Amino acid sequence: MSIRKGDLVMVIAGDDQDKKPHKVLRMIPSKGKLVVEGVNRTYKHVRPGKNSQGGRLSIELPVDCSNVLLFCGTCKKGVRTKISYTPEGVKLLVCKSCLKAGRAGVLRVVAKADPKYATK
Ligand SMILES: [Zn+2]
Repeated sequence: MSIRKGDLVMVIAGDDQDKKPHKVLRMIPSKGKLVVEGVNRTYKHVRPGKNSQGGRLSIELPVDCSNVLLFCGTCKKGVRTKISYTPEGVKLLVCKSCLKAGRAGVLRVVAKADPKYATK
């Protein structure tokens, strides 16, 4: 998964699709799922106890990572991504949509320069 906690994603499937990007609150890589702010909300009924006064708590349930796309600030939409390397061997996460439009489209530096991937 190329998405990380704190990233913005677009929801592309299910009841909570809209045109706005949402923040990723938590990743669950072992299940291929993530929790997105304001998406897949439900109510959890909590009994009054030591730590809470109980009642209906609004919480987000995890959604499958295939239902979201990483948001590209340049394209202003959810995009497919790919991994590429600079000539120096720096690992980058790149927006495919930006590439198509002739832009660099670097979304994030994934790893520092590694001579193994250097092409010069
Ligand atoms: Zn883009």
